[in-house]
Amino acid sequence: MADLETVSEMRNPTADSVSASSPFSARSAYVHVPFCRSRCRYCAFYSGEPLDLRDTYLRGVESEARAWGAGSGALDTVYVGGGTPPTLGAAGLGRIVDALARARGIARDAELTVEVNPGQGVRPADLRVVGFTRISVGVQTLDEGWLARLGRGHGPDAALACLEACRRAGFATVSADLILGLPGLDPAAAADWAEGCVGAGADHLSVYLLEIHPGTPLALDAAAGRFRPASAGEAVAQWEAVAERLELLGLAAYEVSNFAPPGVRCRHNQRYWDQEAHRGLGPGAHSFDPGAGPWGTRWENRPDLLAWVRAAAAGRAPPRRVDRRTRDGAVLETLFLWARRPVPWPTAALEALGVDAARAKPLLACLEAAGDLTPSGRPTAQGMLRADGIARWLWERLVSGIR
Ligand code: SF4
Repeated sequence: MADLETVSEMRNPTADSVSASSPFSARSAYVHVPFCRSRCRYCAFYSGEPLDLRDTYLRGVESEARAWGAGSGALDTVYVGGGTPPTLGAAGLGRIVDALARARGIARDAELTVEVNPGQGVRPADLRVVGFTRISVGVQTLDEGWLARLGRGHGPDAALACLEACRRAGFATVSADLILGLPGLDPAAAADWAEGCVGAGADHLSVYLLEIHPGTPLALDAAAGRFRPASAGEAVAQWEAVAERLELLGLAAYEVSNFAPPGVRCRHNQRYWDQEAHRGLGPGAHSFDPGAGPWGTRWENRPDLLAWVRAAAAGRAPPRRVDRRTRDGAVLETLFLWARRPVPWPTAALEALGVDAARAKPLLACLEAAGDLTPSGRPTAQGMLRADGIARWLWERLVSGIR
């Protein structure tokens, strides 16, 4: 993908032209909440703003939603993440939902997701009253020692109790996040964590590999030799054990990091993977407008709460980093998003980008022979685990034909 271009707050022609060039009527909205009560040792997300700025932030979301304005068609997915959204309390989260409903409308059967962490003091039942239909719980592990090493502020019992309370509260979907790629972790123990989450009420799991980001406490530990990153082999063995156990429980991988029965898949995330329009609100939030520019445009509100609030209050576009996609970049992204999911080869999407689908046939045959694709051309579990390499390998061979 092209490098991100920085757009200044005072003179913002590129960002303004993004919103002016197309009627941006995304049906999906993401709201980034940049507050957490403590900092996990691996975390590189934009969060940790002072809690006394919460009301200022909420006024900013209300302004940004108002400035977005009415579109054609109500929102049918909303995702409030971060950060730790419950730091805003149920009333604060209600202000966000109300602001979106006033500005855009929210469809009657919309999927509304909120992320929570165990033991954060907001009752799941109160989040149901706000209107959320789907809840995503940051379980991460069910091991006391690992939770402490990762700097999580809860134990395994609190995580399981949170899942049970979410299930009792009547959410349509209860999702649990797990972290794998932990050095020395027995794959069978990882599978037990996954089963434990399902037993406590989760019907959707998101499974991520631990990454060591520069500047985090974990990166300092690694540099000082106090933390050994897991090998690729360890991470794959842990993922495979979890995938196998979840498959037995009826939760299949519908994306390399996401497991659920067919009716429980996250509609919002599928919008991202299908490269459909979505609008991010709040500092640090990402948006995509496929109709802006020849190959679509992505942008990120810069992760600067006060600059974002000032712009939102004045009705201006917030400071943004804009990425106008090139055709090559759009092809690579399309291949990457396909290879992470067990879905058919994206002929129509690639042909719309000028790729001759017939040229891919012998390449796909090679991948099938290597066990990366099924005979119907869908990535296998092995293929999904190698998605990055497969996407780049195909891209190098396919884009030469469109230059
Ligand atoms: S709760 Fe999430 S966003 Fe907050 S510090 Fe931990 S990992 Fe980061």
